[in-house]
Amino acid sequence: MVPEQSVFFAIRGAHHDGHHYIGDLYAQGVRQFVVEQRPTDADTQFVDAEFIQVPNTLTYLQEAAAAHRARFSVPVIGITGSNGKTIVKEWLTQLLTPTYTIVRSPKSYNSQVGVPLSVRQLNEQHTLAIFEAGMSKPHEMAALEPIIRPTIGLFTNIGTAHDEGFKTRKQKIAEKLRLFVRADTLLYSLDYTDVADEIDILIRAVNPRCRLIGWSAQHNPAATYLTHVQGDVLQLTDRVDNRWTVPLPFTDAASVENLTHCLVTLLTLGVTDNAEINRRVARLRPVSMRLELKEGINNSVLIDDSYNNDVAGLRLALDFQKQQSNRDHKTVILSDVLQSGQDEADLYAFIARLLAEQGVTQLIGIGPVIGRNRALFAPNSLFYPTTDAFLADLPNRLARELRESVVLVKGARSFSFERIVDRLQRKVHGTVLRIDLDALTHNLNYYREKIGQQTKIMVMVKAFAYGSGSAEVARLLQFHQVDWLAVAYTDEGVFLREQGITLPIMVMNPTAETFQTLLDYGLEPEIYSMRLLQAWGDFVARVGQGDETTRSPSPEPPAPCPLHLKIDTGMHRLGFLADQMADVVTYLKAQPALRVATVFSHLVGADEAQFNSFSQQQFETFGRAVAVLEAGLGYRPVRHLLNSAGIVRFPDYRLDMVRLGIGLYGVESSQLERERVRPVGTLTTTISQIKTVPKGESVGYSRRGVLDHEARIATLAIGYADGYDRRLGNGVGEVWVNGQLCPTVGNVCMDMTMIDVTNATADEGDEVEVFGPHVTVSELARRLKTIPYEVMTNVSERVKRVFYAG
Ligand SMILES: *Cc1c(COP(=O)(O)O)cnc(C)c1O
Repeated sequence: MVPEQSVFFAIRGAHHDGHHYIGDLYAQGVRQFVVEQRPTDADTQFVDAEFIQVPNTLTYLQEAAAAHRARFSVPVIGITGSNGKTIVKEWLTQLLTPTYTIVRSPKSYNSQVGVPLSVRQLNEQHTLAIFEAGMSKPHEMAALEPIIRPTIGLFTNIGTAHDEGFKTRKQKIAEKLRLFVRADTLLYSLDYTDVADEIDILIRAVNPRCRLIGWSAQHNPAATYLTHVQGDVLQLTDRVDNRWTVPLPFTDAASVENLTHCLVTLLTLGVTDNAEINRRVARLRPVSMRLELKEGINNSVLIDDSYNNDVAGLRLALDFQKQQSNRDHKTVILSDVLQSGQDEADLYAFIARLLAEQGVTQLIGIGPVIGRNRALFAPNSLFYPTTDAFLADLPNRLARELRESVVLVKGARSFSFERIVDRLQRKVHGTVLRIDLDALTHNLNYYREKIGQQTKIMVMVKAFAYGSGSAEVARLLQFHQVDWLAVAYTDEGVFLREQGITLPIMVMNPTAETFQTLLDYGLEPEIYSMRLLQAWGDFVARVGQGDETTRSPSPEPPAPCPLHLKIDTGMHRLGFLADQMADVVTYLKAQPALRVATVFSHLVGADEAQFNSFSQQQFETFGRAVAVLEAGLGYRPVRHLLNSAGIVRFPDYRLDMVRLGIGLYGVESSQLERERVRPVGTLTTTISQIKTVPKGESVGYSRRGVLDHEARIATLAIGYADGYDRRLGNGVGEVWVNGQLCPTVGNVCMDMTMIDVTNATADEGDEVEVFGPHVTVSELARRLKTIPYEVMTNVSERVKRVFYAG
């Protein structure tokens, strides 16, 4: 973002209100705002800012984008469908780049806000646009149609997932088809018969001039193109027996379908020469939509974005770099930016400004074009004509430029920046826990939507954020402006402060020895007993007086220290009993230096219907305790009761705040809305060795794994010391190996586990999933007769965490 040139649209969403960010953005230099409500202090606080007031900011943004779109007459491909939108869009871009100057949606910008922003990039230089459109609620597609206004429509497919808000699949398909009510051409697969039927009915009725181009891999006679895969070759035949034979770079079913969509698009656009098509297909790369944080050598952190180099993508990556790191040194390794359709000098001047605004301390530019524009960049920038030249000079640079730095690596494909990443990355092998930061955001938004804007949210990041890695998770939560974090112990809070977390942090188990540390780091204790209350009160009073003698006289009394009162309403773990409230009040009234920031209790069975009446009883007990407290104190602390399951099951008990825990990490423990949260962690390991072991032999310690068949046995680089529970041995646990579940054999060892891969395709070095999308944490917990919490927090700290987004 270049603040001075930016316009901020304050959009109210289900879980954010953009108006809350105006102050921060003003401080960063933004001066133009589109708002629904002028800040009341606009004339005093934001004197030189311009506010455009509109009834609905989102609608305004969308209408402006539609007006922008209407100025252009180039072909526009609009893509929708359940899966594959982004991959098809990226591949089409790769395949059509030799023919067109293309603008496309960055990453998967396909929402109500993302689409207008994507379309605004369209300019006079572009000869083709490719935008994707997604939808999470009814009526959204109708809003996106005038913004994208596709001339060529592409419907990828329809998934089986049941979407909230749609009564039937038909309704969902019909809604998606609204994107194509004015398209000249519509491409789709006839093999999704629901889609094809709906197109037959709807599009023929509302848009009769639309040319329908369907393809089929199942000999459907209505198809414009019939396809057939043999080995790794795809054949396409049209109605007059023209035939194209295309070697496939990827042969999994999803890739073949995505590629077929692309090929049909190429043919439709007149790229029909088989040899030319094959040349372009051979250069296709897998689409990396992820921005992955990797540990680099020399204590650096890498952000690998080595396949994308458009300007919009650069901006996203720089945002990610800023958000994910508290390091002083920010390095960007950037290649020539190809195909921007913009004047060269303008483009690099813009990039130089962007880098400066984002606090990038060092640019390393690679390529002739960025090199000849070096005068535009900061004087300490380094330039190399080729990737090879940079790699040759790398040993000289590593110590100085890259040490302790967070390095964003971003380049056009032809520069092969994956070689740079390979050299800079500290190799992780063996067992890795990958954390999907986008899934975390998705889950946070899901719970925020449930509780509404009036309810605050405290997020539990105790126990290393349920095993996920507390610093990175906390940074993301800070970015999303949650109200409080909570940890179990003072140490955990100190660690977060050292990582640059400034949010209020509650410490649930403070001890007298850590009181000074709490104050030093601005951490807020949970107070659960009279003994602890008095000890904390005495301590604060003593420190306050100490201050009195040493500090220079000041008219301001010190701000009272926030604390959190825990009420025991039935858990019988920590907490005051309700009838102690009167004593608590008496004590607090004599301690003006203490302030009760929040008061809370914890349900013992929020996730189970059998305890509903007990939960209600806890709620009522809590209410009585709070009433006494409020009456006595004369002010209202923030009240909170619900954990993740409670948020889903007891909307009436939300009070002022909720405490989100396991749901954020992808386990919806009430089980009522399990599909609405996304799994966050994937634990993988690698196969160290495979051997064939004869029937009757045994595998592992104590000869427990006796084979009743000749078996291929694979040894995994994970054991109980990594958190793979020993009780998962002897077939109780299964891991996912190249699309196949494989059982454990014999006892789990400390650092290794053996599995039977007789029925799977498996090679030494292959990665296997221990838990994640195919082996869920909940399923593992079920087999272990425990709860998901234990499985997640058991992943030991020696297991590397890798964070990614996108
Ligand atoms: C851990 C914890 C939570 C969060 O519970 P989840 O079931 O993970 O949502 C809430 N409140 C307290 C007091 C906790 O200790």
